[in-house]
Amino acid sequence: MSQSTLIKRQFGHRARLSLSPAEVLKADGQAHAARTMWNLLHAWWQMMPRERRTLGHADAAIRQAREDIDFLAVLPAQAAQAVLKTYFRAWKNCWEGRADAPNFKGRFRSVMSVDIPQGRDLNITRVHRRWGVANIPKVGRVRFRWTKDLPVGKRANAENRITGARLIKDALGRHIAFRVQALEVKPDPHQGPDVGIDVGVTVPIALSDGETYEHGEWLTEKEKARLLRLEQRAAQRKQHRKPGERTSRRLHRTYDQIAGLRAKAKRRALDWQHRTTTVIARTYGTVVVEALTITNMVKSARGTIKEPGKNIAQKSGLNRSISGEAWGRTVTMLTYKTAQLGGTLHKVPAPGTSRRCSACGFTTPGSRENQAVFVCKNPDCGWSGNADHNAARNVLHLYRMGLALIPAAGRAVVRRAKRVKPAAAR
Ligand SMILES: [Zn+2]
Repeated sequence: MSQSTLIKRQFGHRARLSLSPAEVLKADGQAHAARTMWNLLHAWWQMMPRERRTLGHADAAIRQAREDIDFLAVLPAQAAQAVLKTYFRAWKNCWEGRADAPNFKGRFRSVMSVDIPQGRDLNITRVHRRWGVANIPKVGRVRFRWTKDLPVGKRANAENRITGARLIKDALGRHIAFRVQALEVKPDPHQGPDVGIDVGVTVPIALSDGETYEHGEWLTEKEKARLLRLEQRAAQRKQHRKPGERTSRRLHRTYDQIAGLRAKAKRRALDWQHRTTTVIARTYGTVVVEALTITNMVKSARGTIKEPGKNIAQKSGLNRSISGEAWGRTVTMLTYKTAQLGGTLHKVPAPGTSRRCSACGFTTPGSRENQAVFVCKNPDCGWSGNADHNAARNVLHLYRMGLALIPAAGRAVVRRAKRVKPAAAR
């Protein structure tokens, strides 16, 4: 076998954790310390003059904080370093226009996580068909569900190994997310046809060949009624709370129940996305999607203080449904799944794909009848059909015209104008 057929792949694997009450206390303590570290770092950053905001100075500040504040010591030094690294990465993402500026992390609204940057510290072993154990610094040996053959023990080598992990506690539960590096045989080029995908308004996913992927509601009527009841109860309890009073155990319990139901909806949505993207990646060789930037769409709808956006309510409704469908996650899944199966994913600039007629190629004003139906107003054409299929065909057309955005470093990157000023300039 020649070396050229092997390619390096990095991916994450999330496994459910099973912790004893003592381990839960330790893990939560670490997560709270990591969050505090982030907040201290953010306060430090805002206080510092621009020229002192360097990694070196930040590192010194972190070391000082670990000496001065007792409870920060529960966080392993490497995890503290990882917080620093993530914080600087967050600014970089912001400056390069991929994300908002980092902010303070609240106690209840943020996902709790602790990084374990060194894979060798984990010392993972499989102890049962369904269980593995891993070493978490300052927590101990913890059990996790074994659902994927991980490169550990004899199967691990320089190319195939676990490079790190992260403990996560969110609405979906407690998990450990492993970072895995593997050397795999490069797949043969996928021989399947080309396809354009539109993120639909009436259908979640519409393909250029007429195929659609739909899903029902994520929650049943009964579950939705229960969610509404719980939300009303939480609002009521919150209202009766006196200023400065601590949130009651009962209110916390209601919050937990709400989070549980939302997590259930999210798990169902994730499951649907995984099944759909797998089918698409298996069927088609070239997949073309619109380069939608969802954060931008939300922002442009809102507008600025001087020039408030038009139709804010409608646009934010659309935004909500886009966020609900989690288009970004679908694209991420498609990116790695097509790559694994020898296919490719391309992004094309989105403007106009919903207004142009895919039959005659003209954009005639008033052609889109409503969200669902497209009727071409070009007197020589008159084509009519599903608006989402029309858009999907336009997406594919743009790709065939050679208008795909250039992927960078193996990942499709959306080129955006650098309008975000570095925070240092504020
Ligand atoms: Zn037409």
